[in-house]
Amino acid sequence: MKPILKELTRYGKLLVEKGLTTGPGGNISARDGNTIHLSPSGYSLAEIGPDDWVSLDLKSGRRVGRDNGLRPTCEVSMHLACYLSRPEIRTVVHTHPVTATAVATAGVKFKALFPDFVALLGREVPAVDFVTPGGEEIRAAVAGKVKQGHNVVLLKNHGAVALGVTLKEAYFRSLLLENAAAFLLAILAAGGRPRYLTPKEIRSIECLEAEDYRKLLLQKGV
Ligand SMILES: [Zn+2]
Repeated sequence: MKPILKELTRYGKLLVEKGLTTGPGGNISARDGNTIHLSPSGYSLAEIGPDDWVSLDLKSGRRVGRDNGLRPTCEVSMHLACYLSRPEIRTVVHTHPVTATAVATAGVKFKALFPDFVALLGREVPAVDFVTPGGEEIRAAVAGKVKQGHNVVLLKNHGAVALGVTLKEAYFRSLLLENAAAFLLAILAAGGRPRYLTPKEIRSIECLEAEDYRKLLLQKGV
């Protein structure tokens, strides 16, 4: 059994446990050379076993290795487009986080709010308007943002996509996005308005040596 399939299986369960997606929603994948391992269509991410992943060749989209009789996620073209857009990307995690999706759908901006936001999500998380799932529209909308260098994209009325060099990095980004949404919601519930970090404050966080060290650990999967 390839270690990457074990890891995908573990993170699939974690994403459901943490409430980032529910029922058969969400899909995840990982890149191993030119092979992409994708979650099968119609499964809860919590119930996928190590033999249930669907492996495709990145360039041709053809099946690689043993055919387990399962179809890949219907978002297969969105996943492949992310890998083709940015060669350093090794994992794509698409979830349906309730609070982040609701807050983005309400039109609230996800801009830098606290130090971990800057370190893991970047200066801003873009939100794209609703597009039909499972086809060309969502592929183009997400790939457009990924090509601009964004590692997390919000999909209004739908969910979010987080990328990573490791599964742990994409998982942490998914968790932190929902955390940022709870932060925004708490500010709004307290009757306030979001106070985003200034460009100077963002730069000071980006220059922290400790953040470089944490990023390095995450990208090694430690
Ligand atoms: Zn979805």
